[in-house]
Amino acid sequence: YSEDEMMETNKILHQEFQNKVMQNSETYQKMLEERQRLPTWEMKDHITAAVNRHKVIIVSGVTGCGKTTQVPQFILDEALSSDSFNANIICTQPRRIAATSIAERVAAERDEVLGRIVGYQIRLEGDMSHLTRLLFCTTGIVLRRLEGDPNLEGVTHIIVDEVHERSEQSDFLILVLKRLLVRRPELRVILMSATINAKLFSNYFDNCPVINIPGGIFPVKQFFLEDVIEKTRFNYEDKTLEHCSEQIASDEIPDSKLSKYQLQLRYPGYSFSTINTLDKMKFEKLDFNLIAHLLEWIVTTQHDELPLDGAILVFLPGYEEIENTYSKLLDTEEFKENKDKYIIIPLHSSFSSDEQRSVFHKAKPGIRKIVLSTNIAETSITIDDVVYVVDVGRMKEMSYNHSRRMKSLDLIWVSRTNAEQRKGRAGRVQEGVCFHLFTSHMYKHILRPHPVPEIQRNSLEQVVLRIKMLSVFRGEDIELILQELIDPPLVERIHGAVQSLKEIGALDSQMELTALGYHLGSIPVDVRIGKLILYGTIFRCLDATLTMAAILSYKSPFVNPFKKRHEAKKMKLILSEHSSDIHTMLRAYKEWWQARDEGRAAAFSFCKKYFLSSKHLEMICALKQQYVEILSSIGFIRKGIKLKDVQTSATYSSDGVALITGKKVNLNNENNELLSAMLVVALYPNMAHGEIAIFEIDSHLTIQSNDIVNIHPSSVNSEIVFEIGSFLVYHEKVRTSKVYIRECSLVSQLSVLMFAGGCIEVDVSKDPPLISIDDLIHYKTTQLEVALSLKALRSELNQL
Ligand code: ADP
Ligand code: MG
Repeated sequence: YSEDEMMETNKILHQEFQNKVMQNSETYQKMLEERQRLPTWEMKDHITAAVNRHKVIIVSGVTGCGKTTQVPQFILDEALSSDSFNANIICTQPRRIAATSIAERVAAERDEVLGRIVGYQIRLEGDMSHLTRLLFCTTGIVLRRLEGDPNLEGVTHIIVDEVHERSEQSDFLILVLKRLLVRRPELRVILMSATINAKLFSNYFDNCPVINIPGGIFPVKQFFLEDVIEKTRFNYEDKTLEHCSEQIASDEIPDSKLSKYQLQLRYPGYSFSTINTLDKMKFEKLDFNLIAHLLEWIVTTQHDELPLDGAILVFLPGYEEIENTYSKLLDTEEFKENKDKYIIIPLHSSFSSDEQRSVFHKAKPGIRKIVLSTNIAETSITIDDVVYVVDVGRMKEMSYNHSRRMKSLDLIWVSRTNAEQRKGRAGRVQEGVCFHLFTSHMYKHILRPHPVPEIQRNSLEQVVLRIKMLSVFRGEDIELILQELIDPPLVERIHGAVQSLKEIGALDSQMELTALGYHLGSIPVDVRIGKLILYGTIFRCLDATLTMAAILSYKSPFVNPFKKRHEAKKMKLILSEHSSDIHTMLRAYKEWWQARDEGRAAAFSFCKKYFLSSKHLEMICALKQQYVEILSSIGFIRKGIKLKDVQTSATYSSDGVALITGKKVNLNNENNELLSAMLVVALYPNMAHGEIAIFEIDSHLTIQSNDIVNIHPSSVNSEIVFEIGSFLVYHEKVRTSKVYIRECSLVSQLSVLMFAGGCIEVDVSKDPPLISIDDLIHYKTTQLEVALSLKALRSELNQL
């Protein structure tokens, strides 16, 4: 929009605001009263004054005090009351679900329709217009915008919310903003954080002011696992313990390593049955029976010390665990018999905003609200009426898995900061109670004090691509840029990321971004998985590659029961396909899908027969859906396409999918050779070479003669002796008694030649010249079929 048009709309918005305040609209007033009760309101003038005076400020306060909903409005309102209204505020959120629900809330507080002055934008979705002056969006959206608009033209204020979470994107955005302030001194940056580490950010911005919002939460009683077992008599067993003479164990030894007697010394005053149960549980696995048991106890027992009414918030690590708890809960007597007395709401970032909305509604009298949530309810979303928190103490965290050379989502123990934060959620409106399902010892001595910033856990590939995509960094040294981060990564890690980006062809030898690199930088998945799904689209075998991608980033659908290992292997071999574990899994997935068409019972018995986990299969299915959305967000496939298994209601046919060119094509090729080529795409340089023993080969396809690897006994390939010249790609290398490659697939030399990385070594002698794959293909196209052995091909080329 032209400047004139903007000024014209600004005038209208200013007038509308004046009218609204003057008219005393009833909704607006009612909301205003609510807003004025928030602790942040007290600091209104203080905050706006500081924003006017300083380029950067930090606002910190306990979760729920009103930072996210109020601070952007303070700035907007102050600007709106001037005749020369000219503000354009962006507020970033780490999660999609927060961006939408907060925009909705803020629009409602202003008695406005969403998409006018208050809007939101997240990947694939948004509601905004030329009137929008306060935009809530994900951090990724701003990073995307910076590509084409490095100065954020027209933006007057940028608020970065939840900076304490230390997400990779938010750390990076803060770096970019620090530089941008030099070019745009009139820009205002506001960082908002929970009460932890505000000082860190203030130091980063030359000791900029920190505004602390006073006021806290009501006291919350804290109980640990031993109390939960004692109180609820979980697994009650009345065995007596002999008295012990053992020494008290050192604090560094976790409970799970202690004998019963040592446990008793560590937890004096607890009953024998509690000690027995603690000893039996070993704390390693999440115990859904215990969670259900505790919830049933909370709602059915009369407690002197505990409040009676109010919602219960259960923190669980992820989707699967939410589902498990849900079904366990419905199986308990209390919930079976008194269904109407409860409303159980799952809360997960993948749910639509409609589904989420119900968590904010207060339950009717006599009805108990139970929210089963991931850690999004820790800081992003505040549910007011919570008085009980059940914290299972785990969360999912993305980290780099070196044996897979891939990012993976792992289940880990929360940090003390997370546990504290979770506890605080029970004290919003009155005193509350928190049950942690880990022991007090664990809390004090074993849990990490703070979560590890994402940028320190992850591989840096995505960040490096991001830097390459932003024109402001053009020509600069990546290492030097990354040293400007709040927590600069080690130089070796930066080199590792650059090396791996070159290997997969995202950066060329000149360190320039390739087309592949550009697309990989635009999608929020591991770069190898990203490459696989992009290639899958181009080579029109999308459905199968999506299944592969899901399997590679999640896990195998096959289970490996300890006691029935041999039987499981036998059944797996029946499904064996193309000397490849992944092809075998693809087949298992496909046949499971067909069985599912016949009904749940058929699918169940199929899983049972072949030792497959239906949970894993369902998860693979859900991941495929996510990848479809990602691909359509960058225009690789048409929006709204549905694959046959991704959504039950939808049908997929060969003309159901079209490339962006508009030409209808079949994306469903299932040619095994093609699919094994896709595996080279995804897994290179995780490759091994068959030659009596199997040798690992490095990223230039030279054999590391000493690195003998073995095929894991669970693989369909474990009995096969591979010929000289054969290539295997593998998913994961583990070192136990020997070095094993776990899941592996035989791939053709042709696919190695064509798809293994961007460069291929031609000369096996010292000082090898590199030749690009394009040159190679160009030169060899006509002779490829006869060049069956890569070695032969190599020596042939050597003679040139
Ligand atoms: P903070 O950012 O400091 O954690 P928020 O601004 O998110 O706090 O929330 C302030 C208050 O607004 C909370 O107490 C919460 O009850 C209320 N609130 C936020 N979002 C909604 C919503 N969608 N529906 C109802 N109330 C909400
Ligand atoms: Mg907030």
